[in-house]
Amino acid sequence: MKIGLPRGVQDILPEEIPYWHLIEKTARSIFEKYNYEEIRTPIFEYTELFVKGTGETTDIVMKEMYTFTDKKGRSLTLRPEGTPGVIRAYLTNKIYTSKPVWKVYYIGPMFRYERPQAGRYRQFHQLGVEVLGRKDPYIDFEVINIAVEILKSLELENIEVEINSLGCSQCRPKYREALKSYFSKYEDLLSPIDKERLERNPLRILDSKDEKVISLKEDAPQPLDFLCEDCKKHFDKVTNYLSIANLNYKINPKLVRGLDYYTRTVFEITTTTLGAQNAVVGGGRYDNLVETYGGPQIPGLGFALGIERLILLLKQQAKLGIEKQKLLFLAIEDENYLKKAIEISQVLQKNFKVEVGPLEEPLRAQLRLADKIGADFVLIINSSLIERNFIKIRDFKSGEEKNISIDNLIETLNTML
Ligand code: AMP
Repeated sequence: MKIGLPRGVQDILPEEIPYWHLIEKTARSIFEKYNYEEIRTPIFEYTELFVKGTGETTDIVMKEMYTFTDKKGRSLTLRPEGTPGVIRAYLTNKIYTSKPVWKVYYIGPMFRYERPQAGRYRQFHQLGVEVLGRKDPYIDFEVINIAVEILKSLELENIEVEINSLGCSQCRPKYREALKSYFSKYEDLLSPIDKERLERNPLRILDSKDEKVISLKEDAPQPLDFLCEDCKKHFDKVTNYLSIANLNYKINPKLVRGLDYYTRTVFEITTTTLGAQNAVVGGGRYDNLVETYGGPQIPGLGFALGIERLILLLKQQAKLGIEKQKLLFLAIEDENYLKKAIEISQVLQKNFKVEVGPLEEPLRAQLRLADKIGADFVLIINSSLIERNFIKIRDFKSGEEKNISIDNLIETLNTML
């Protein structure tokens, strides 16, 4: 039996890697400029971390986690998102005792048992940031701005920031009650899972993909109408900063995001070119999460960007000038020059991309391989030239040949490539 690939996961083959490198390089350099440091947290954590943080009535926790029991009977889960692990690391390492503000970024795989489709996978990658210890609205702006800057640096078009506020522990209960009484009127139309949510967390009904619920959501109460004075001021300042920076945004009063820990600002960056899976970035503020995990009262916020979706977008635009390094191929006339070839390759490979041919085979066979692998130039060591310390170089595309001195091989190649 051939062993295939599990559903929803994919190989990232070498041809794809330039996209990954470009995105990672662009994001890292932007993160560093805004004074964020990298963190790498484990791929699996105790299941409880996500149940408590992401939220037990969310789709992620109810339906999508890869949970397993280890040999000692502990329940572990492959991380479905990055934030809980970062907060756990913050608490485990008592960062709050030494750093009033902690700004970190991560890049890595996440796992969700979702129905796979274009732009939706079971293993996917996110890069994102988390800020702990700042409650001021400027930092909400900064976090959104960083996400936008990454997309703009990659010359992504047709992006839109959608923003909303979910209020805080003061005003949220009123909104929750309003939602509950609204959906209670339609209880008979709700699925068992949404009925349970009605009791435990009516906000999560708004994530429902159920057709009937989707139409009910149209007239459901909206969190902006329930904000307390402080939350309203905070939201106004954030949107004001976005305007000052000339950053296009749209207030989307229906945006709630599918995770439980958000307070105040939530946002998504969407594009018109991705179809149904149109969100590339999602994020928001979580002022109670650290406390939920038993830590001090420390505010936080962050975003996550889906790398696979970003790559789909970049490919659609087909604008990406990823430059390929020229490939040199080293061949020899016969085995007498094997030693010389190894010596030369040692020097060449410190400077260029070089494939050394099958030196024990006839020159013809070596050149055939050079052609097949798409070498740009072939360097040939042969008897008449090597006596004079020269080597032949052939431009494989044009067929042009010339002899160059081995003494200044690197310099000559540098000017040619
Ligand atoms: P979320 O916090 O769930 O909104 O995720 C943030 C971003 O991660 C989304 O906007 C997507 O770009 C990406 N993402 C989330 N789930 C998946 C998935 N199953 N497959 C691919 N990308 C995803």
